[in-house]
Amino acid sequence: TTTALDARAWIDGFIAVIAARSAELTELDRQAGDGDYGTNLRSALRRTETNLNGVADDSPEAVFTAVSDAFLNTGGTSGPLFGMWFREFAKAADGEPTTATLAEGAANAVAAVQRLGKAEVGHKTMVDAMAPAAEALAAAAARGADLPEALRETAAAAHAGARSTEELLAQRGRASYVGEHARGVVDPGALTVALFFDAAVATVQ
Ligand code: ADP
Ligand code: MG
Ligand code: MG
Repeated sequence: TTTALDARAWIDGFIAVIAARSAELTELDRQAGDGDYGTNLRSALRRTETNLNGVADDSPEAVFTAVSDAFLNTGGTSGPLFGMWFREFAKAADGEPTTATLAEGAANAVAAVQRLGKAEVGHKTMVDAMAPAAEALAAAAARGADLPEALRETAAAAHAGARSTEELLAQRGRASYVGEHARGVVDPGALTVALFFDAAVATVQ
């Protein structure tokens, strides 16, 4: 058991869980979108692996910048949005991730995604998981929770947010074009955010 969070191990875990679940993520986008989500995500993560070659594993800022650059250079609506999201984690990174630096990064990150995409909570997008995750991290940081506990609460909040999208009608993105057909379909972007925090929890266990 370790209480330290290694950014590179976190990203490696994220890449692995997305590889395992990309078909499921694509299926969600097929039901309420255009069915390219898993493909978009996997090409961003292939670029991430390329970018991570030669990056100092012990620099969370460099690791998150590599991820951000990969997403910013990937097509689909989700690419630039995740690129902006990860960029704020890089900017807030200051040595090994702590509850406080992650809370700062997550707050700035969801704000950046909302500036770019103009989605509010309840619009059935990735923001529905990003916002509660940022709130959980802020609450954990405010009471001085240790990192494993903070990450467990964050992942739980992100999953609850992702689940909440199932019954919603989409008001942003392609899922908004299909109206009632989006009801009953979890937003794949929101689910991805939850899986990202699961990877962090697994890394500190
Ligand atoms: P595209 O619709 O271009 O094929 P992707 O399939 O790559 O895009 O990404 C779809 C995901 O993008 C959705 O699941 C949703 O989470 C997210 N998304 C779409 N529009 C927005 C927006 N305006 N703000 C935030 N997230 C959005
Ligand atoms: Mg799509
Ligand atoms: Mg598309």
